[in-house]
Amino acid sequence: MKITWLGHSAFLVEGNDRILIDPFIGENPVSPVSPEDLSCDIVCVTHGHGDHLGDAVSIAKRNGAKILAVFELANYFESQGCEAIGPNIGGTARIGGSNIFMTRADHSAGADVEGLAGAAGVATGLVIESGKTVYHAGDTALFGDMRLIGKLFALDAAMLPIGGFYTMDAVQAAMAVEMLRPRVAIPMHYNTWPPIETDPERFKSEVSKLVETEVRILKPGEATIF
Ligand code: ZN
Repeated sequence: MKITWLGHSAFLVEGNDRILIDPFIGENPVSPVSPEDLSCDIVCVTHGHGDHLGDAVSIAKRNGAKILAVFELANYFESQGCEAIGPNIGGTARIGGSNIFMTRADHSAGADVEGLAGAAGVATGLVIESGKTVYHAGDTALFGDMRLIGKLFALDAAMLPIGGFYTMDAVQAAMAVEMLRPRVAIPMHYNTWPPIETDPERFKSEVSKLVETEVRILKPGEATIF
C-alpha cells in the first residue's frame, strides 16, 4: 500500500483501490497538487467542515468515483449529483475491493457549504481495509474508545491529527497511538494555519516514550509505502 499526504487531512491511499480521503485541495495553502491532478476510485469525507469536504464533489464527478460519508452527508452528495454511500458509525461499507468501517470522532460536524447549512450528521473516523489496514481519525479529540478500534483491527498505519486547537494535540495523539497500537503512525492536521502550528518531532518523541510504533513524518506531496 502507498499513502501520499496531500497536506492537512488529505491523503491518497492506494491499496486494492485508490481512495482519496478529505480532499481539501484547491483552497489548501499547503497542497502540493491541484484538484484536477487527482485520480481515484473512491472519495471518503470524514465530516462536513470545508477543510475536509473540500473538492470532494468535483473530484468524484470527474473520476466517476463513489463518495463515502456518514448518512446525512451522503444525502447531500447525492443531491449534488454524486453516487454516494452513507453508512453510519459502527457500520462497514464494501466498495470495490475495500472495506470501510466508520468510527466515532469527538468533534462538531455542521457543514459550512452552500446548500447544506447546519447539520451534516456527525464527525467520523474511518478504518480502511484495502490490502493493508489503516485508520484515518478525521478531526477528533482523544477518546478512550480508540482502545476498541485497536482491539478490532490490526492496524498497519494510523493517521492522526496533532495540531491542537480544533483537535487533539501532539501529546494527546501520542496517547492515541498507545491505545491504537498501529505499526506506523502518520501525523496530520497541523501547520496549515497559525492556530494549528505544531512541531511533528514533538509527536514522534512522545510516541517513543510510550510504544514501539514507528512515526513517519511526511511533507505535503510525500508518499510512504508499507
Ligand atoms: Zn472539523
